[in-house]
Amino acid sequence: MNSSANEKIIAIDGPAGSGKSTIAKALAKRLNLEYLDTGAMYRAVAFLSLQQSEETRDDQRVLEVAEEMDFNFTDGICVVNGHDVTKEIRSSEVTETVSAVAAMPEVRKEMVKRQRIWVEERGGGVVEGRDIGSVVFPQAKVKVYLTASEEIRAERRIGQEESVDTLGVADSIRKRDEADKGRSTSPLVRSEGAVELDTSLMGVEETVEEILGLFRWN
Ligand code: C5P
Repeated sequence: MNSSANEKIIAIDGPAGSGKSTIAKALAKRLNLEYLDTGAMYRAVAFLSLQQSEETRDDQRVLEVAEEMDFNFTDGICVVNGHDVTKEIRSSEVTETVSAVAAMPEVRKEMVKRQRIWVEERGGGVVEGRDIGSVVFPQAKVKVYLTASEEIRAERRIGQEESVDTLGVADSIRKRDEADKGRSTSPLVRSEGAVELDTSLMGVEETVEEILGLFRWN
């Protein structure tokens, strides 16, 4: 990838509900770039895998589903194999299974390849996930690691997902964090050079301004 594309990569990582998608979207708008929610890619693989019959749903089949998947993400709308699945990939069934799918090294390899192509084709972009600063784009000039308190993260997820059960959502987030931080391939970490921001008490605009102020953009 050429160095000017690297200049325009903004890598945002952090646990569930830390504000990554909202901030990535707002930041992309300010910088006139596109944004990619890489969690949506893993969710799409989990969603398609759940549609496979249980007898054939082994690791090999999940990998095939990932490799064959036609994935498109534009302005927050997720189209998979020709269908808008923006809502479906947020179902509790997908949320419960996605970390297991995302822990599969071969699935990750395929997704990382696609994420790099996505950025290459656009000459940059705002990319958010769990391993963006550590594995996908360690060379990114701008790396941010977002966090927020457990309570705030649960509240935010309630707004995004279908569940309204606060305790259940908090528990599901905790389990997902443990799985994402504890897996052997590309665990969630604050990557070298990433600036950590606790967004618990910060509004969207404030967070965006803070990030814009942290780095030299020209
Ligand atoms: O961001 P979101 O919470 O929608 O991500 C769903 C799941 O996808 C995460 O819990 C994690 O297991 C996986 N993921 C990942 N690497 C990324 C993005 C998401 O493993 N870069």
